[in-house]
Amino acid sequence: MSKFLKFIAVAMLLTVALTVHAKVVRVDSLRYWTAPDHTRMVFDVTTPAAHQVFLLDNPARLVIDFKQTKLLKALPQPPKNHSLFSKVRSGIRNKKDLRVVVDLKAGVTPKSFALQPSGGYGHRLVVDLYNKLKISKVKSKKVAKASKVVTKTVKNKARDIVIAIDAGHGGEDPGAHGPRGTQEKKVVFAIAKKLAALINKKPGMKAIMVRKGDYYIKLRKRMEIARAANADLFVSIHADAFKNSKVKGASVFTLSNRGASSEAARWLAKNENAADLVGGVTLTDKDDVLATVLMDLSQTATKEASRNVAGKILKNFKSIGHLHSHNVQKAGFMVLKSPDIPSILVETAFISNPTEERKLKSGKHQSKMAKAIYKGIVKYFNQYAPADTYIALNARKKHTISRGETLSGIAQHYGVTMRSIKSANKLASNQVRIGQVLEIPRG
Ligand SMILES: [Zn+2]
Repeated sequence: MSKFLKFIAVAMLLTVALTVHAKVVRVDSLRYWTAPDHTRMVFDVTTPAAHQVFLLDNPARLVIDFKQTKLLKALPQPPKNHSLFSKVRSGIRNKKDLRVVVDLKAGVTPKSFALQPSGGYGHRLVVDLYNKLKISKVKSKKVAKASKVVTKTVKNKARDIVIAIDAGHGGEDPGAHGPRGTQEKKVVFAIAKKLAALINKKPGMKAIMVRKGDYYIKLRKRMEIARAANADLFVSIHADAFKNSKVKGASVFTLSNRGASSEAARWLAKNENAADLVGGVTLTDKDDVLATVLMDLSQTATKEASRNVAGKILKNFKSIGHLHSHNVQKAGFMVLKSPDIPSILVETAFISNPTEERKLKSGKHQSKMAKAIYKGIVKYFNQYAPADTYIALNARKKHTISRGETLSGIAQHYGVTMRSIKSANKLASNQVRIGQVLEIPRG
C-alpha cells in the first residue's frame, strides 16, 4: 500500500471510529430522591439514551438496559436502610450495552422518561419507582386519620384552621441559586419548617407541609395535597433570582389570570412555572391543561381572601427588611390556581443578591421571615376564621350597647356573669351608655 493509500485508510478508519464513538452514550452519575409514595432515580447521560426498564422476580429486581452505553465509574449506592432498594449493580452486555440491576425490597411500579437539560443539569433519564406497599399503607393511614378527625370534631365541636405550606422546588429541581451556590429548595424548606412549627404551636391552627423532604412534587399535585388536607390557606414559599444581582427584597403574590402586574412578575412566574420541566414531568399532561381552564373559571371567590392575607404578610415583611414591591403582586403562578383555597406565593428574597443570599442562609433571619408570614396569617384568621373553627368559636365577642339595654340583660343574653363583663372591660360600675362597645368574655 502506498503511503497515500495508507493515509486514506487510516483516515477512513478514524472516521468510522468517531461515528461509532459519537453514538455511544455515557452514564456519568445517578441521584436518588425519596418521596413518601415513590423514589426517583435520575441518571445523568451525555445524550438521550435508548433504554428499556423492566422487573424480574425471585429475587425481585429492577433492570434498566441502556443501548450503546458506557459507564466510566461505579454508580452511587442508594442510602442505607432505603425502603425500596438494597443494592445497585451494573454490567456490560453484548460488549456495548449497559445493564443496571437494582435489588428490590418491595414491589414497585416503574415509569421512565427522558429529561432535557435544565436547572444546571444536562440530559437525564428518570426512573420513578412507585412503591406498591407504601401506597396501600398511606391509604389505610388516611382512613385511620379521617376517623380520628371525626371523633375530635365531635368532642370539640370546632375544627382547626389548616395551613398548607408549600416549600418550592425540591429533589431534582434545585430552584434558583445564589452567587455562592445556595440552593433555593434548601432555604425555602428551612423557612417552611419554621413557619409550620409556629403554626402548630397556636391553638386552633394546624400546618401541613406539602413536601416533607428533598423530593419534587408536580405543581398540580401540590394543590391536590392541600385540598386533600382541607386546607384553609395555601402558602408557597420561594426565593427567586434575577439577572441583575442588585435586585432585592421580598414580594407577595396572588394569582392573576389576566397576566402579570409587572414585567418582573411575568419573568418570575415563567421561571416558577418551568419547575415542572426541571423537576421532571413529560409535557403530555393534557388533563392538567383542561383542569387549569376549569379551575380558572371558579377562582374569583377566593381572590379577595388571597389578596387580603397577602397584604397582611407584606406589611410584616416591611418591618424586617427591604420590600421589592410595596403592593401585592399578581402573576399567573400555576401553583396558586386552586379554585377554592385562598393561595399566596411569597418570594422571601432574591437569592441572586449576595446580601440576601447570606440572610437566607441564616437561621435567625429564616425565623424572622417565618414569623412575618405567621403573624400575617394569624391576623387574617382572627378576622376571617371560618365559622366552624376553634378560632371563630373562641373569638372574643363584642357588643355595642343599644337604647334600653342593661348590663344584667346583656350578661343574661350571653350566658355570662355581670362580674366577668365588668372585669373584662374594667368597668367600675353597672352603668353602660348607648354606643359603648363591650367585650364579652367567654362563658
Ligand atoms: Zn422558586
